[in-house]
Amino acid sequence: MAILKAAPPEVSVKTPNGNGWQQNQTAEGAQESAYITAITQFDHAVQYLNVDVGIAALLKTCKRELTVSFPVKMDDGQIKIYTGYRVHHNTARGPSKGGIRYNPNVSLDEVRALAMWMTWKCAVVNIPYGGAKGGVIVEPKKLSMHELEGLTRRYTTEIAPIISPEGDIPAPDMGTNPQIMAWMMDTYSMHRGYSVPAVVTGKPLNIGGSAGRLEATGRGVMYTVREAFRTYGWRFEGSTVAVQGFGNVGSVTASAAHEMGCKVIALSDIEGGLYNPKGIDVPKLRQYRKEHGTIIGFSEAEPITNADLIAMPCDVLVPAAMEDQVNRSNAHTVQARMVAEGANGPTTPDADRVLNEKGIIVIPDILCNAGGVVVSYFEWVQDMQQLFWEEEDVNHRLERIMVRSFRDVYETSRQMGVDLRTAALVLGIGRVAEATKTRGLYP
Ligand code: NAD
Repeated sequence: MAILKAAPPEVSVKTPNGNGWQQNQTAEGAQESAYITAITQFDHAVQYLNVDVGIAALLKTCKRELTVSFPVKMDDGQIKIYTGYRVHHNTARGPSKGGIRYNPNVSLDEVRALAMWMTWKCAVVNIPYGGAKGGVIVEPKKLSMHELEGLTRRYTTEIAPIISPEGDIPAPDMGTNPQIMAWMMDTYSMHRGYSVPAVVTGKPLNIGGSAGRLEATGRGVMYTVREAFRTYGWRFEGSTVAVQGFGNVGSVTASAAHEMGCKVIALSDIEGGLYNPKGIDVPKLRQYRKEHGTIIGFSEAEPITNADLIAMPCDVLVPAAMEDQVNRSNAHTVQARMVAEGANGPTTPDADRVLNEKGIIVIPDILCNAGGVVVSYFEWVQDMQQLFWEEEDVNHRLERIMVRSFRDVYETSRQMGVDLRTAALVLGIGRVAEATKTRGLYP
């Protein structure tokens, strides 16, 4: 990579704490925000690259930020005002891409961090996209289907000026799903007067979705973990896995692990967790959740807390719920050999340092959970061409990209003598910096 610094990292990096990681500025015990995490990671990784300070400042800054407040008529006739965001972080390598989150804790800073991670993620897996993210401050579970549709259609209308198949393509994230993508696509298409399927990805199959998209993130996590095991010479079959979060990413990761011959010994969601040292029957648990609306009460496992899950002795811990779950207060309890980040930003920089010191391998989010955006890219390509692929082709291409990306990151980490997160960031930021340099500054 032409843009890498020639000097060895030990020489070129300022290490205030002697470990290469800068101390987070938040007060002791305070929850660290995703934005602080994203900026701390960037500041650390950029020191390994020969990037002009002005370009570094540009790469650290979001290009475009839209905040919208809009009314929604509720079922009881009341009008409620909601706030949402859409942030484009960077478009040097192509149109911006990133999910839409519905959650009460959404904030502009969180959306900025998630948009920045999208830019590096797309660059790490080498797909021609920049990064974006969106969100609405809402608890979707408290809304009826009708209210959710009204909120989605109005939010889409508000952000319509800055989304398009050529410019910025949303997708699902926490709290959103294929139905919500269908409403977004329909709303945008109504404004245009014709169908525009490529404006969002993660849609249902019957309106231009891709086979394998729903499962792509979780599958991608396990393809990456399997490649990591191969690389380190560890035995994959029969290895023990603990998964935090049983939503789209967590439940598919658990199913994929089960199908690939691993033993899923612990699982959790926001209500609590389950443990069975002999392995949980994941398809049976998914069926139980479908019937009961919760994983709590499943009789073939003991109840555990989320803290127990994080501290579970196992081969692979997959945080697949949300940010900041492995942090300075619990990182020392982690006993897994490997942490595979299904969620975005689940490990804070302080926790990263602790895990590194303990010799625990962390497969970073921008590599590990990139399967979702890779198959979103496939969906967009299929929509543009109106030519659809078999699921087998999708999975095969996905696996090839995840394996190649893991190898790229691993090689970078080996050559530079750094952990996988730093290597992934150096690779991703380096590619975006190179594209910026090639394009030049306008005007
Ligand atoms: P989701 O809404 O489908 O599921 C989230 C899950 O996390 C739920 O099971 C919920 O109960 C659980 N959860 C929430 N808070 C928790 C807590 N404090 N402790 C334990 N469990 C908790 O969301 P998702 O789409 O699966 O996304 C999960 C994470 O993966 C997010 O960080 C998201 O940004 C990231 N991600 C998602 C995709 C995708 O394609 N959906 C792609 C890449 C990354």
